[in-house]
Amino acid sequence: MSYEMYQEVILDHYQNPRNKGDLDPADIWAREDNPLCGDEIALYLKLNDASVVEDVKFQGQGCAISQASASMLTVKLKGKTLEEVLAIDEDAVLQTLGIPISHARLTCALLPLSALRIGLETYQEDGA
Ligand code: ZN
Repeated sequence: MSYEMYQEVILDHYQNPRNKGDLDPADIWAREDNPLCGDEIALYLKLNDASVVEDVKFQGQGCAISQASASMLTVKLKGKTLEEVLAIDEDAVLQTLGIPISHARLTCALLPLSALRIGLETYQEDGA
């Protein structure tokens, strides 16, 4: 895809966020914000008995990059095993966004992943 196409995809996710809403009860849950930009993301995951992500939702507000990144992450998460979810790293998130992210915007782009990691840590501590 070209740079312009990636930009269009990001704008589309921002304007028409996928999986936006609440999930109650959620198995994995976390909220994270980025005070530098005013972004907020809350992420909710529901796992089935086989530890596969059955449903995922997010709530949030903030800049286009943070909200699009959250929307794109939820699409990525659905149907993944817990092991696959744990393997999602910063490179994977940035690759999905597809455009060069400036240093100032990096926290925005990675905010949903930060929330996911906090949620996973809490989940694993509780389950241990
Ligand atoms: Zn931001």
